[in-house]
Amino acid sequence: MSERSERTMRGIRPARDPDTWGFFDAAADGRLVVGECASCRAVLHLPRPYCSGCGSFEVGWRTVAGRGRLWTWTTIHQSLHPAFEAPYTVVVVELDDEPGVRLAGSLPGEPDLEIGMAMQARFDPLEGGGALPQWEPA
Ligand code: ZN
Repeated sequence: MSERSERTMRGIRPARDPDTWGFFDAAADGRLVVGECASCRAVLHLPRPYCSGCGSFEVGWRTVAGRGRLWTWTTIHQSLHPAFEAPYTVVVVELDDEPGVRLAGSLPGEPDLEIGMAMQARFDPLEGGGALPQWEPA
């Protein structure tokens, strides 16, 4: 297990819209979730107000383990937002328990990464409350 790299994210306030607030409410509790159809149990990623599989408007959230495999990454060398001090590395991780579902996150600096390596979610606190799911090597 790597040293945790949790940091407070400044200047980020997730939009409180009905399609995504469940994701951020769960993150505030330290849980990672993906959208789910309440009728046919299909994963709805990205979250949306209806199921494109069965047409149901009964949607909710499924808690996932918060573990995955590194799909890809890139290192950013220019800061464009105060929450992301360069250099930082943007990662895309495919969930172990939901293959095909990929979530993005970031790590400070230029960590030593390898495609397919084990990753785990962490929850960086947001200035003003809540948390933003991020990823780090497991
Ligand atoms: Zn459905």
